[in-house]
Amino acid sequence: MHLIDGKAIAAKINAESRAAVAELQSRGITPGLAVVLVGQDPASQAYVRSKDKTAKELGLHSVKHELPADTTQEALVAVVESLNADPLIHAILVQSPPPPHIDERAVVEAIDPRKDVDGFHPMNVGKLALGDADAFVPCTPLGCQRLLIESGIETRGARVVVLGRSMIVGKPLALLLSAKGPGGDATVTIAHSRTRDLAAVCREADILIAAIGQPEFVKADMVREGAVVIDVGINRVADPSSPKGSKLVGDVAFAEVAPKCRAITPVPGGVGPMTIAMLMHNTIASARRWAV
Ligand code: NDP
Repeated sequence: MHLIDGKAIAAKINAESRAAVAELQSRGITPGLAVVLVGQDPASQAYVRSKDKTAKELGLHSVKHELPADTTQEALVAVVESLNADPLIHAILVQSPPPPHIDERAVVEAIDPRKDVDGFHPMNVGKLALGDADAFVPCTPLGCQRLLIESGIETRGARVVVLGRSMIVGKPLALLLSAKGPGGDATVTIAHSRTRDLAAVCREADILIAAIGQPEFVKADMVREGAVVIDVGINRVADPSSPKGSKLVGDVAFAEVAPKCRAITPVPGGVGPMTIAMLMHNTIASARRWAV
C-alpha cells in the first residue's frame, strides 16, 4: 500500500509556483490574490489566514478583506466590483460559506470570470463542461487530479467512482477525470445519497474518491482489493484521548480500508494541502493570462 503524501506533493507544486512568480516578477508582474471573508466563522478565518500566508510565502501580492457579519449583499458586491476593476488583482475568492443573509450565487456571479480562481462562476463551470482549456477549475478537484498524476496513477480507461455530487468537489471532479487527455479519459460514475446499492457501485472502482462529509463512511467492504482511494472528507469528531477533545477524520475508515488499497490519501495530509497549492497555481495562471 502506498500512502499518497499530499503535503510533499503540495510542497513540490508550491516550489514550482515560487519559481513561476519569480519569473513573472522579472517581467514586472506580481500575481495578485484577494480573499474576501464576511463574518467571524473560525474555520473560515483559519482557511483565509493560511491562503494569505501561503500566497505571501510564494511572493504573491495578497490582500485580505475581512468584513463584518452584518455586511449587506450590496456592500459585498461593491467590494467584489472594486476588485474586478483593480489591475493589481488577478484572482478573487469569496470565502464560503457567507452568512445566511448573503446570496452566495449572486456574489459568485459578480466576480469577473477571468479572476474567478475558485472556478465557481457559471462561465467557468460551463467552460469545464465544454472541455475548454482556459476554464478555471475548482481547487480541490484540481488537487485530487494532480495527486493522481503526481503519484503515477493512470486515469485513462480507469473506472472511477466519485462519491458526492457537490459543485465544489464531486461534479467538477467527475468532469475533470472524464475529460479528454492526460489526467482524464476515465469512465466516471457519480454516486450520491440516492444511489442504489452504493457499496456495490463503489466496489466497481479502480479509483474511488470520497467527498460526502460523512466521517469514516467508506468501509473495507465497499472497496475493491488493489483500488486507489482518494479521501476528500474533512470531518471533526470527538476524541477524548486528544488534548483538544477532537480530531480530524476523512470520509473513509482509513484503518480498515488502507490495507486493501494500492494507494490511499491520509486525512489530514492528503487532499487538504493540495487545495491551497492549486489556488496559488490558478492565481499564477490568471496573472499570466492578464499579462498577454
Ligand atoms: P456537500 O455536503 O456539498 O455534498 C455532499 C455530497 O455527498 C452530496 O452530493 C450528497 O448527496 C453526498 N452524500 C452525503 N451523504 C451521503 C451518503 N450517506 N451516501 C452517499 N452520498 C452522500 O459537501 P462538499 O462536496 O462541500 O464536501 C464534501 C467533503 O469534502 C466534506 O467533508 C468537506 O469538508 C470536504 N472538503 C474538503 C476540502 C479539502 O480541501 N480537502 C474542500 C472542500 C470540501 P446528495 O447530493 O444526494 O445530498
